[in-house]
Amino acid sequence: MGIFLMEEQKQLDKLKEEAIACYECGFGKTCTQKVFGEGPMGAHIMSVSEAPGADEDATGRPYAGKAGHFWEGMLRSIGWDRSFIYVCNTLKCRPPNNKIEGLTEIDTCKHFLIKQVSIIQPKLILVFGKPAAYALGILAQADYGKPVKFRLGVQKGPYEYVGIDGKKKTARIMWTYHPSYLQNKPDGRAYCFQAYKQLYDAKKLLEAEAPWDG
Ligand code: URA
Repeated sequence: MGIFLMEEQKQLDKLKEEAIACYECGFGKTCTQKVFGEGPMGAHIMSVSEAPGADEDATGRPYAGKAGHFWEGMLRSIGWDRSFIYVCNTLKCRPPNNKIEGLTEIDTCKHFLIKQVSIIQPKLILVFGKPAAYALGILAQADYGKPVKFRLGVQKGPYEYVGIDGKKKTARIMWTYHPSYLQNKPDGRAYCFQAYKQLYDAKKLLEAEAPWDG
């Protein structure tokens, strides 16, 4: 690990401590433990989902259950593996009944996610579901309740964020359906096909844009 990545790791550890100590939205009191996120420092790809469920709450790891297995299968289908991806959720605590009821908890928690992005400095962010899209600012509050079907896939322009070094950075964003939605939808096959295709497009785009100069 280079000196710079050691600094990143230190910042990420500090942020994790802050998340562990956070009781802002109230879910910190009802969850078993915080599920902060995991993955290699310097990961070029970051995956952001909704919130920990029962398996994640029990293990402390994101995507540890059924949705995670499905997601891992999606990755494998395009030749990717979770070991090189930084994986996290929008919320760090399991919400009661596994449900994000409103935007308040996302608004309260999203600063952790935004800081994670600035520390990891990904080149591609995989966004699974509306809460992550909203937290990252690519879905406006006014559009949260509306169907987003035609807005999914690789987003047109690059996503801008500020890295921990204070410099402006960009990432590509691929936004698609949440794996649980794909699993539970009766006509899921067509949706799955779309999601796989969107993921594949993101992979191609990333490959076309590599290597990066910083
Ligand atoms: N669903 C999510 O959104 N995230 C997880 O980590 C598990 C299930």
